[in-house]
Amino acid sequence: MVVLMDGKKLSQKFQISLLSQTTYLKEHGIVPALAVLVVGNDLASQIYFRSKKKLANKLGVNVHDRLLPENSSEQDIIKVIQNYNEDPLVHGILVELPLPKHLDEKKVIESISPAKDVDGFHPYNIGSLFMNDPGPIPCTPAGIMALFNEYHIQLAGKQVVIVGRSNIVGRPLAAMLLNADATVTIAHSKTVDLEEVTKKADILIVSIGQPEMITAKYIKPGAVIIDVGINRLSNGETVGDVNQNDVKKAADYLTPVPGGVGPMTSVMLMKQTIGFAAKELKI
Ligand code: NAP
Repeated sequence: MVVLMDGKKLSQKFQISLLSQTTYLKEHGIVPALAVLVVGNDLASQIYFRSKKKLANKLGVNVHDRLLPENSSEQDIIKVIQNYNEDPLVHGILVELPLPKHLDEKKVIESISPAKDVDGFHPYNIGSLFMNDPGPIPCTPAGIMALFNEYHIQLAGKQVVIVGRSNIVGRPLAAMLLNADATVTIAHSKTVDLEEVTKKADILIVSIGQPEMITAKYIKPGAVIIDVGINRLSNGETVGDVNQNDVKKAADYLTPVPGGVGPMTSVMLMKQTIGFAAKELKI
């Protein structure tokens, strides 16, 4: 029978440990702080921001929030980021994506100091990741790696297929899995005969934003399936990129949606912020 990989439960386990870390840091005069910039009126960004703030409050992480109007210029945003770069009370900086269309996301991300790049999206940090050097790593892939660890999923030597090549999930996750000695294939919308590719995977990770597209015919029996997708349907239901009911019959492990990868992403963000703050400890 399929094992559901419970991200909510694992996130709570992390929260207990993170709370004790923030308590310890506070005893040493350090309050971890995360600066979050939200630009414009994107509803999803506002919802994600509120849920991050709630979790930060719970874990004793200060949030410095800046809500900038939709018509802000790149210079306006970069100025705010530069102030946070120089503020010793801010340990991590995050810009909610997507930005309004007139703004160059790349330029904005590149203005974040790599040392405060809590999302791990700065090209310097992505470069370090691909070189297998230490540094901040993107939170969703970090959460997926934590799930593999929790469920004792062996990665070395495994055939892993990632469907989706986004900068925030597919590409950095491929580097992490390669660093963990897996054999990695990345598929995308131009992949010919996707089914043939995914059926070879011992571990299949899907991050495509296509509601329930991956059915049992795409998977190898006994595979580990990670469903990253979060798709809100017109009836208000949230579904993943994997047809969970169908795939359950054939997979050995599966992340549910909701309650799988999602809760891990936000807790990894807090973990990284607290880790940056802990660098101030003088032992
Ligand atoms: P994205 O930027 O939305 O890009 C989608 C990727 O999927 C692209 O690489 C695209 O290929 C590929 N793709 C789209 N349709 C495909 C198809 N029919 N067959 C094969 N590949 C296809 O990706 P993302 O940012 O990783 O987001 C994907 C999903 O994950 C979304 O539902 C998002 O909400 C969710 N997400 C969840 C979390 C979480 O914490 N759980 C975090 C991030 C994202 P091309 O490159 O060829 O266009």
